[in-house]
Amino acid sequence: MKKHNFSAGPSILPRVAIENAAKAILDFDGIGLSLLEISHRSADFEAVNNEAEALFRELLQVPDNYKILFLGGGASTQFFQVPYNLLEKKAGYVNTGVWANKAIKEARLFGETDVVASSEDKNFNYIPKNYTIPTDLDYLHITTNNTIYGTEYKTDIDSPVTLVADMSSDILSRPVDVSKYGLIYGGAQKNIGPAGVTFVIVREDILGKVSRKLPSMVDYRNHIANQSMFNTPPVFAIYVVRETLRWLKSIGGVPAIQKLNEEKAALLYEEIDRNPLFEGTAVKEDRSLMNICFVMTEKYADLAPQFLEFAKSKGMVGIKGHRLVGGFRASTYNALPKESVQALVDCMREFEKMHVK
Ligand SMILES: *Cc1c(COP(=O)(O)O)cnc(C)c1O
Repeated sequence: MKKHNFSAGPSILPRVAIENAAKAILDFDGIGLSLLEISHRSADFEAVNNEAEALFRELLQVPDNYKILFLGGGASTQFFQVPYNLLEKKAGYVNTGVWANKAIKEARLFGETDVVASSEDKNFNYIPKNYTIPTDLDYLHITTNNTIYGTEYKTDIDSPVTLVADMSSDILSRPVDVSKYGLIYGGAQKNIGPAGVTFVIVREDILGKVSRKLPSMVDYRNHIANQSMFNTPPVFAIYVVRETLRWLKSIGGVPAIQKLNEEKAALLYEEIDRNPLFEGTAVKEDRSLMNICFVMTEKYADLAPQFLEFAKSKGMVGIKGHRLVGGFRASTYNALPKESVQALVDCMREFEKMHVK
């Protein structure tokens, strides 16, 4: 049976990227060696690294005064690497849920950390707005897509201080005005690759301003000076990122994927709003295009386990909601085809026919 992969991360990748990765593991570009056994400093791999970076820059329109890094450690390492490099006096954080909270916890190890806005009062079902950003912050940190709660910033905010964003789960899903940010980071495994590589886009002039000593691996400047090869980079993961970005370019780049993502999300949200069995959990204006969270309406709450079973029998994978929100979560990342969303909608309709008289 065809599987429809709605997993939150690691998540669905373009088929062509997986096929090419499988081939490269056996014989990389016909050189008679596996991608897994060649030097990261070989010309063959350097070409992969350079192309991945160039494609990222082209697709997201990253200005020349920003560097793009591919590092290890996941977004969770960035939670401390960012304040290590940038927090001298005071940082501001917007608390939009679990991931933002983890970032706040790490920042507190390095200096004064203010939560300038939070949506905790409503279990993070919205993006805080209309707050004032203090001008004495070293930086303001936001999480542009909240993977667990299904909320997302729809536009790039204006900040009077350096803006830092965790874009793990919506990178390259929509156009971003990179010039509004000082630093953007995320794990690749939601939208642009497999687990194991972390992207960092950083404007160089924000670095080198803290007085503390930085371990070499923590200092972004070392990674910049060595084109992400200060130590052995996650070679295989970077290869799959390149393949995924090649695919993204081939289908029309960010404008095309944004349109597709909007269509997919509209299809599912329309069904959630129409079907008497289901309701969305995030406020409408902040609904994520990447992680669509919904629950059974009160009247039909008992049917939740049955719906999960039914959906599973129809090939749906990964739609159980995070335990902090409950219900269901369909992650509709870039590589998820529209047919999979249609299959889930069909499944919800069929279940409705079975249970609503
Ligand atoms: C998944 C996720 C993370 C954690 O990423 P790791 O690479 O596992 O450290 C951080 N932030 C957001 C928004 C996420 O979705």
